[in-house]
Amino acid sequence: MKIIKTFVAALAVSLAAMSYQAHAQDKGAVGIAMPTKSSLRWISDGNELKAALEAKGYTVDLQYAEDDIPNQLAQIENMVTKGAKALVVASIDGTTLSDVLQKAHDSGATVIAYDRLIRQSPNVDYYTTFDNFKVGVQQADSLLKGLGYPEKPGPFNIELFGGSPDDNNAFFFYDGAMSVLQPLIDKGVLVVKSGQMGMEKVGTLRWDAAVAQARMDNILSANYSDGTRVDAVLAPYDGLSRGIISSLRGVGYGSAEQPWPIISGQDAEVPSVKAIIAGEQYSTVFKDTRELAKVTANLVDTALTGGKPEINDEKTYNNGVKVVPSYLLEPVSVDKSNYEDIVVKSGYIKAEDLK
Ligand code: BGC
Repeated sequence: MKIIKTFVAALAVSLAAMSYQAHAQDKGAVGIAMPTKSSLRWISDGNELKAALEAKGYTVDLQYAEDDIPNQLAQIENMVTKGAKALVVASIDGTTLSDVLQKAHDSGATVIAYDRLIRQSPNVDYYTTFDNFKVGVQQADSLLKGLGYPEKPGPFNIELFGGSPDDNNAFFFYDGAMSVLQPLIDKGVLVVKSGQMGMEKVGTLRWDAAVAQARMDNILSANYSDGTRVDAVLAPYDGLSRGIISSLRGVGYGSAEQPWPIISGQDAEVPSVKAIIAGEQYSTVFKDTRELAKVTANLVDTALTGGKPEINDEKTYNNGVKVVPSYLLEPVSVDKSNYEDIVVKSGYIKAEDLK
């Protein structure tokens, strides 16, 4: 009996010590606001970030807003009300968060724009992302590689797609791509038969694949019903690439007589890497979201523990009110020739998931 009592007492002491330890390690709450679960990358971003912050001792509130702006606003308000010490926000519309971020600032929270810049607010402390202009350059370069230019001189018919006009990144991707494509359009090497150019014409609201598919349907019937073919399509994100591929399939592309155009993408999503292996999509841009999550979790921890976070760009990202100190990671262009080395060997995608 005595032994049991001693054991129970010892257990109680050690449980108390453990709970003290857990308490001592609790560094406070961090809110993570993600845009949508409809794209694989944001699911993995959210999970990686949550795990990295929890490992550092934070309590994490991770929310997805399914691309609904009022929903994301309400989620962030709630995080501020519950006393979040830091907010990590991948915004849906980068211009709609000013009021809630003022509240966050007034409560002393640190605000990090995650991957997408938050615009028109002075209350954005840091921005972590990839070199977004370079993403666009890589997309355009891969189209030229796929077309075989300059060995094959063209002219080639190309159609252009942009991302969501409420996402600052979309302009960087488009501008990066056009820095390569525009001189060739001017020379007549590339021909945009639809004449649709510029983000106001080629943007795809909310990065919606169905919107891109419908626009591609219209472009094909209005400009390519005479038997001419589309040789290349600038697509800024894998989801849109897949919508565009469906449209092309609908009018007979993907056969021996009518091979696929060269189509770009972004995010190395599993269905698109499969499409690359199958020869439907030509390329994607791999952005290691595990690294982005790691960099961001370190930044949050450094900021909240009174240190000076590491920054590697203090000039590129003006949000309309100020230049936001940023940390940029490198994107990597991926096609059939290197997908195994880049996305499989790094463990980002399991080989069996591509079967
Ligand atoms: C991200 C891309 C993504 C796109 C659509 C952009 O802000 O940077 O990686 O493809 O949103 O989700």
